[in-house]
Amino acid sequence: SGPAGYRGRFAPSPTGALHFGSLLAAFASWLRARQAAGTWLVRIEDLDPPREIPGAADGQIDTLRDFGFESDEPVLRQSTRGALYDAELQRLRAAGLAFDCRCSRSDLAAGDGIHRACVAGDVQRAAAIRARVPDIGIGFDDLLQGPQRQALGREVGDFVLRRVEGYYAYQLAVVVDDAAQGITEVVRGADLLDSTARQIWLQRALGYPTPAYLHLPLALDAAGAKLGKSLHALPLDREHRIDALCMAWRFLGQAPEAVLGATSVDALLQRAIRHFDPARIPRANRSAVAS
Ligand code: GLU
Repeated sequence: SGPAGYRGRFAPSPTGALHFGSLLAAFASWLRARQAAGTWLVRIEDLDPPREIPGAADGQIDTLRDFGFESDEPVLRQSTRGALYDAELQRLRAAGLAFDCRCSRSDLAAGDGIHRACVAGDVQRAAAIRARVPDIGIGFDDLLQGPQRQALGREVGDFVLRRVEGYYAYQLAVVVDDAAQGITEVVRGADLLDSTARQIWLQRALGYPTPAYLHLPLALDAAGAKLGKSLHALPLDREHRIDALCMAWRFLGQAPEAVLGATSVDALLQRAIRHFDPARIPRANRSAVAS
């Protein structure tokens, strides 16, 4: 894979152990990269210390390795990249596309919850930094979900780039790192479909290229909710790697017989690379239990 080759990634937040939904994103992104003879990266999105569990990042990397997924380049940790995020924030600010905001939650709640202009001038309060979002529509073609469009100004408004507490926001960091790592295609869960327009807007504001996007269906529990405390929300466990991979394979709409009878993780993955057909992935979120 030369400089123009495929580069994909899996980017967990270390807020707990990896579960079935994580396996879907890791497996599918890895398969796309392997089929393209490209590069696959693991990036730890550890930007939210209050929500992090000590040791979770290392646990996630170990679990990925157990399942046969190893980053082709050193694992990047977002917690080490504040200087770059700050530099990019300054560029946005210089372009008039980012500003200090001292509005409180209740200031926003007094309206429709969407920030379009500052109402608060309480200079005592620490400021968040927000993107100055114009009244603009952003469209893109998702490789699986098809054409998408969001009226960014109306539906999202001025979104947070750095929180009051000083933490960089996911939307900023993901865009800066996808560009810095030369990611050409983002494969992730459909819960992030709604974030993509913000990310594309930021990419344009910062002069970055926009990668291709493929948003996977979400695995729901039997009651149709995003996986909560059901069986599939349990941590992935080493013992049942082959079962879990087979279940993920089927959930991704792939032909069961292609991996049937594989007796090692390696053998299963080699068959999976050979037979994976992205055109078979279903669009709709559905129960993981029934699949
Ligand atoms: N860190 C995000 C999460 O775990 C995923 C980010 C992404 O894939 O863009 O939900």
